[in-house]
Amino acid sequence: MKPFALERAADRAAAIAAGSVSSTAQQGASVRFLAGGTTLIDLMKLGVEQPENVVDIRRLDLGGIQEQSDGSLRIGASVTNSDLAHHPLVRQHYAALSQAILAGASTQLRNAATTAGNLLQRTRCVYFRNTATPCNKREPGSGCPAITGANRMMAILGTSESCIASNPSDMAVAMLAYDATVHVEGVSGTRSIALKDFFLLPQDRPDKENVLEPGDLITHVTLPSRPAGEQSVYLKLRDRVSYEFALVSAAAAAVASNGTVTSVRLALGGVGTRPWRKSDAEAALIGQGATEANFRRAADLALAGAKPQSQNGFKIELAKRCVVETLKRATR
Ligand SMILES: Cc1cc2nc3c(=O)[nH]c(=O)nc-3n(C[C@H](O)[C@H](O)[C@H](O)COP(=O)(O)OP(=O)(O)OC[C@H]3O[C@@H](n4cnc5c(N)ncnc54)[C@H](O)[C@@H]3O)c2cc1C
Ligand code: SF4
Repeated sequence: MKPFALERAADRAAAIAAGSVSSTAQQGASVRFLAGGTTLIDLMKLGVEQPENVVDIRRLDLGGIQEQSDGSLRIGASVTNSDLAHHPLVRQHYAALSQAILAGASTQLRNAATTAGNLLQRTRCVYFRNTATPCNKREPGSGCPAITGANRMMAILGTSESCIASNPSDMAVAMLAYDATVHVEGVSGTRSIALKDFFLLPQDRPDKENVLEPGDLITHVTLPSRPAGEQSVYLKLRDRVSYEFALVSAAAAAVASNGTVTSVRLALGGVGTRPWRKSDAEAALIGQGATEANFRRAADLALAGAKPQSQNGFKIELAKRCVVETLKRATR
């Protein structure tokens, strides 16, 4: 008779081969890293995540926030959200990042939550968190009740027939606007992934949320230095003013010289299945006046292709107004 552990491993391998369990680092991986635990432990208690082994990485040397010789900022994977938001260099040069983090969760959660854990937090879709219901992201092939059910908080951009869940991270939206890079150490060495390429669209495999492979450890994140004169803002619109996820949000980092936009980065939260960025919306603003009409045109481009569900059509106009207001504040 095979030892129990081997039997489970064999069952698992068969399930992965059959496509019923994902082998990605996100969903269903047998070994998981534990950082702040504010996502992972929650989901383990709910039975949504069931790792066979949990490796506590809190004693690894993954901390520290340093300015590097090229002016970029290096943020350790285990730096807490609180330490990051309050760091003087972040407040000075990456204000939207500080604002985004402080707009999320609660003080206690931010004291425990980490940079890598925040990037890898999972959707707040109620069906995903309830094992009594089907969910393609939790159990590939089981269905998506959100499409005909409670979808007010769900995404309107990047959705598929399989999943319409929005990405909940505020921090990731600001990092995307700053062209962040995620640095990873995996079984085949180290590699760097631009944040814009890190998150995957759900398509027909919503359980695969990012490009991480099993065993990949995020070691740090880097943010490039900022252009002179840049101002940045994060604006989060939600049902209540604290302790709530975004209905829509926007991060803008812009330089306006004599009323003309010379540089701009724009990212949206709450609307996409991943943190959302549209380069054509940014390009349309370069060399243009920092006016409400031009910001509105950029907002229209940013929301192009939005596909609302039965309860979240309001997000389109709300997101456009959020973009306009964020750009106004970043170019004042
Ligand atoms: C009540 C509540 C309200 C919240 N409100 C908000 C909000 O408004 N906005 C918002 O953005 N977030 C919100 N959050 C989410 C919160 O920001 C995340 O739970 C937190 O950032 C996760 O970080 P962590 O370190 O605790 O991750 P963990 O739970 O430890 O880990 C999360 C995932 O990341 C993986 N992981 C962690 N570190 C690494 C690493 N170095 N390499 C590879 N994988 C790693 C883990 O294996 C796990 O899969 C809320 C959470 C709660 C519970
Ligand atoms: S939207 Fe995605 S996470 Fe929510 S039930 Fe559908 S498949 Fe699951």
